[in-house]
Order: sequence, then C-alpha cells, then structure tokens
Amino acid sequence: MAKDFDPHRLDVRRFAEQGEELEASAGLQSFRRLAAETQRPGDATPVHWHARGELLNPGHVHPEVWVHLDAGTSLPLVCQRCLHPVDVPLNVERSFRFVADEETAAAEDDEAEEDLLALSRSFDLVELVEDELLMEVPVAPMHQVCPEPVKMSATDAAFEAAEAQREHPFAVLSRLKPGK
Ligand SMILES: [Zn+2]
Repeated sequence: MAKDFDPHRLDVRRFAEQGEELEASAGLQSFRRLAAETQRPGDATPVHWHARGELLNPGHVHPEVWVHLDAGTSLPLVCQRCLHPVDVPLNVERSFRFVADEETAAAEDDEAEEDLLALSRSFDLVELVEDELLMEVPVAPMHQVCPEPVKMSATDAAFEAAEAQREHPFAVLSRLKPGK
C-alpha cells in the first residue's frame, strides 16, 4: 500500500510511474453527494474502492499515464414499483488516461474510447470514485422481482378488497367450466 500517496491530493503521474495502488473502505457519510441519494445512509454498505496507476510506453517521449479504478457499494433505496426498500448494488470498473491539461482532454475526447482527465499533482481520487458511483444510481430503482405478496400497510384493507373483487370473475368462470 502506498503510504505516501494521499487519495484526496494524488500526484497522478508519480502514482502511475511507480505503478502504485491505493485502496480504501469508507462509510457513506464520507460521500456527501452519494449519501444524499438515500433516506437511510446508515444502512448502506461501506464504499470500497481500489485504484492502480500504470505508465504505458515508459520509453516514449510522452508515456501514457493511466489509472484503473474499481469501486462498489450498495445503496438502500425505495423500489418504485412496490415502494418497499431495495438495496441497489453500484459497481464501476473504469480506466482513465490522464493527459496534459483540460484542453488536451477536450480535444482528444472524441477520438479516444477511454475516459480522459487532466493531469494533476493533487487529484481528488475519492471525488472521482463518488462521481463514478453517482452515475450508476438508477433513476427508478426497482426490485428485479418484487417480494410477494406486494403489501401496502396503509391501504391493506382496500387493497385486499380490490384483490377479492378481481378474483371474483375467475371464480364465476371456473363454475361455468364443464366438469366443475
Ligand atoms: Zn419492489
């Protein structure tokens, strides 16, 4: 573990040159914007992230500076179908190439398939982790399969009455079937 690298103020080039790695787990409370996405930040899985620096073509005049990032957490959200809590896993795995400055990043962005960022001696890697995870937050979180039965405590009686009515025509139908 690279003790002399501060993930909040990372010297990206040196990190890549030394092929260093950084890794951390932190509670959601240290990710203010991400925490704002949930009503129950205390129930979130700690955010775990890992970053690895890499220098490609080190013999070249302009070697490529890369940072490979993976991060994950699980956010307690509300299912938009059944309105029950749903834990939504967020996972990202992405590689970034760091170029000289913002202008170069903007100029090369169209051709490059990878994500481009501007080199910095005090790059906030933790903020990048948060940016990337935020992009993974679904607009309408939902269970893949909502838990059965779908219960809505506030309107249980009305809901069950509606269900009973809905079953009624089928009950009639089954009585009309031959052999029944
Ligand atoms: Zn649901």
